[in-house]
Amino acid sequence: MSTVIGGQRTGLASRHEMLLRLEEAITTARTQEQRLALLAFNLRGFREININFGHHRGDQVLHRVMEAIQGTLRSCDQAFHVGGDEFAVLLRELKSPQVAHLAITRILDAIEEGPNDASNTPMASARAGGAIFPDHAGNIDDLMRAADSALYSAHKTRRRYTLYDSAINERNQQRIQLHNDLKEGLKRNQLLFHYQPQYDLHHNCIRGCEALIRWPHDTLGWINPELFITVAEESGLIADLTYWSLNVVLREWNLLAAGITQAPVSINLSAVLLNSREIVELVERAINIWGIDPASLVLEVTESAMMADPEDALRTLNALHERGIQISIDDFGTGYSSLAYLKQLPVKELKIDKSFVMNMMDNDKDRKIVQSVIDLAHNLNMHVVAEGIENRETQDLLASMGCDYGQGYYFSRPLPAEDVPPVLMNACQL
Ligand code: C2E
Ligand code: MG
Ligand code: MG
Repeated sequence: MSTVIGGQRTGLASRHEMLLRLEEAITTARTQEQRLALLAFNLRGFREININFGHHRGDQVLHRVMEAIQGTLRSCDQAFHVGGDEFAVLLRELKSPQVAHLAITRILDAIEEGPNDASNTPMASARAGGAIFPDHAGNIDDLMRAADSALYSAHKTRRRYTLYDSAINERNQQRIQLHNDLKEGLKRNQLLFHYQPQYDLHHNCIRGCEALIRWPHDTLGWINPELFITVAEESGLIADLTYWSLNVVLREWNLLAAGITQAPVSINLSAVLLNSREIVELVERAINIWGIDPASLVLEVTESAMMADPEDALRTLNALHERGIQISIDDFGTGYSSLAYLKQLPVKELKIDKSFVMNMMDNDKDRKIVQSVIDLAHNLNMHVVAEGIENRETQDLLASMGCDYGQGYYFSRPLPAEDVPPVLMNACQL
C-alpha cells in the first residue's frame, strides 16, 4: 500500500512533510533521469459541507477522501493533506505524462464514488491540477507553482482537471497583472465612459444612450472591455468597479442631459452581481447621491447571466424594478431563456444580439430569428432594441419588421462624453 501522510483532521502529512518528500523525490528523479508528477486536489463545496452538516461530518468526508485517494495509489506514490480541503499527490517513476492523466482521473473517480457503508457521509467531489518534473518545471518551487496554476485553470474553465500548460500559465500571469493594473487604474480614475446613442426607428430621434466602459491603459493602450470585466469578475473587483461605474455614469449623465432631455442612460450590469443582494443597495446609494430619477436608469443584464441562477436573478431584478429602475435583456438570443421564465421577469426591453442583426441582410434564418424576437417581445409587452446596425438597409428592414429602437455604427459609434450633448439635441420628446 502506498504511503499516505497527513494533517490534523485526517492524520495525513502536512505541507511541511510534502516539501521534504518532494525535495527528496526530485533529487532522485534528477539523478536517475526519471519523471515525477505533483497533483493538487481541491474539494468542491467543502465549506458548505462544514456549514450544513457540521465539522464532524466534514472530518468524515476528509477521511473518506483520504481513503479514496489511498486506494488508487501505487506503493511508490504518496498523498498529503496540505490544507483544509486541499490534498496533494506525488507520483514517482512516472513512465509518461499519459500516466498522470490516468492517475488523476482514477483519483477523481474514487473521490466521487461516495461511501459504500451507508454512513450518510455527504458526497464529495474535487478539481485537480497536475505538473510534471522535468517537463513542466525543473525545481520544487516551479513545480508547485505549475501544479497550482493548473488547478487554478481547472477552476476557471470548470473542468475536472488540467495538466500544466505554459500557455495557460502565461495567460494567468497576464490576468493577475491586469487585475493589479485595474485596481490601480480605478484608484487613479483612469477609466471612463463612452456613450452610444439609441435611435427610435419610427420617429428618427434619440431615445437614450448606452454607457460603455473604456480603459486607456498606460502602456497597453485601449483594453477590450470584455477582457477586463471578466478579470474584475474573476478577481472580486467587480462590485467596486460597478459602484464606481454607477457613480461616474449617473453624475456624468446628469450633466450631459441637463436642460436637454429626460432620456434614459443604460448601464451594463455584470452577471456575477445578479446573484448578490449587494447590487440593489449599490444602485440605490448611487441614485440617491446623484438625485437621479430611477426611471432614467436602464440596467442591461445579459440573457446568459440571468439563466445562470434564475431564482436569484429574479429576486434581484424584482427588487430593482420595485425601485423604479428599468431592466433590459442584453444579447438576447445567445443564451437559453425559457419562455416560462421570461414572462415572470420585470423586463421592459429585449436587445437583439448584434450577431443576428449584422447577418440578417444575407441570412434568411437570422432574419426570421430577428422577426420572432420582435414578435415575442411585443406579445409580452416589451419593446425591442436591435444592436449592431451598420448600414441603411438593415435600419430600413428592421423598421419595416416593427423593431422599435436601433443602435449601431451606422447611426453612431460610442462617443466620448463631450460629444454627447449636441447629439442629445435630437432626443425624442417624451
Ligand atoms: P454590449 O453591452 O452588448 O455592448 C455592445 C457592444 O457592441 C459594444 O462593444 C459596442 O461598441 C459594440 N457595437 C455597437 N454598435 C456596433 C456595430 O454597429 N457593429 C459592431 N461590430 N459592434 C457594435 P464594447 O464597448 O466593446 O463592449 C463590449 C461588451 O463589454 C458589452 O457588450 C458589455 O457586455 C461589456 N461592457 C461594456 N461596458 C461595460 C460596463 O460598463 N460594465 C459591464 N459590466 N460590462 C460592460
Ligand atoms: Mg449592453
Ligand atoms: Mg449586447
